[in-house]
Amino acid sequence: MQKPDDTSAGGCQALQAELAALRRKLAFYEALVEDLPMPVFAKDEHSRFCLFNRAYEKFFGARREDMLGRTVLELDFLSPEERERYQAEDTAHVGEVDEKHYHVSYATPQGLRHTLYWTRGIVSSLGEIGRVGVIVDISKERQLRIKLAQKIRELRDARAELQQLCRTDALTGLANRRPLDDMLEKCVAMARRHGHPFSLLMFDLDFFKRINDSYGHEQGDKTLQACAAVLRENTRREDLPARVGGEEFCILLPGTVLGNALGMAERIRLAVSRNIILPGGRAVTASLGVAQYQADESAEDLLRRADEALYRAKEGGRNRVCS
Ligand code: GH3
Ligand code: MG
Ligand code: MG
Repeated sequence: MQKPDDTSAGGCQALQAELAALRRKLAFYEALVEDLPMPVFAKDEHSRFCLFNRAYEKFFGARREDMLGRTVLELDFLSPEERERYQAEDTAHVGEVDEKHYHVSYATPQGLRHTLYWTRGIVSSLGEIGRVGVIVDISKERQLRIKLAQKIRELRDARAELQQLCRTDALTGLANRRPLDDMLEKCVAMARRHGHPFSLLMFDLDFFKRINDSYGHEQGDKTLQACAAVLRENTRREDLPARVGGEEFCILLPGTVLGNALGMAERIRLAVSRNIILPGGRAVTASLGVAQYQADESAEDLLRRADEALYRAKEGGRNRVCS
């Protein structure tokens, strides 16, 4: 007996409904890919482009009708080197369900764009193989990162400069008290551990107040700068001359015993009195106190002994060296 007609009509209606549902689903997926903000593409088993979205077309300034069904070798918006490279990659990985991501730069109509390129081999539920790719434009992030790195460098330089300024006397350019204290601590440690000798020299201008009073503060400043120059000229690279007060200087002499420190102090005293001459011809003089580090004493003890030697030089009539 024949099946009644309405059964086959019902079957047909059910198929049509299923087809309509599938069409809606397909349209939805197409819209989904189409409206993604980043460039998206897919390739078939022969590495031919089978899908593009709007963002891809806009990004590369290309039309999908010129690209669909073609391999990357035929895309004229890519350089010949890029085409060869991407094609080699595609063919090397056909059929693989691998996942890769790396940075790629493209020359696009918007200029050079830096991107994160993500790709994956796919196998559909019906067994079709292909690749899907997504391109994320990270040009802005990259520019920001470059700017940030530049700012960090500037900040680091500024910090180093600031640290240097914190350790430098502005008037004379000599070290200030901080580096002197640091180096003194190191010298004490080396002397205690290895018995390395070192000496300390204290320098104080004689009657400096009078220079200010008679010739003006500016002349006083010039005199301090001239003293700093004398200290620089008469010290070795390993020595540390520092300005520790208004008209007081200190020189730390690593590896130097008292006799040699006294010799250096005398040379400095002579250089000041001979070379620093005030307007009108009056010579500037300085008094110096010298002490060599003694076993087990503290940095403060050494500073005190050098200061006492300086005091004796002042008391003894100034323009002299005492130890
Ligand atoms: P003495 O021989 O006993 O050392 O006498 P002095 O006049 O050199 O010493 P005193 O401590 O009485 O005076 C130091 C002067 O140094 C007083 C202060 O105004 C001056 N002074 C301190 N710092 C500076 C500075 O940066 N520039 C100038 N021009 N003068 C300064
Ligand atoms: Mg003085
Ligand atoms: Mg003084």
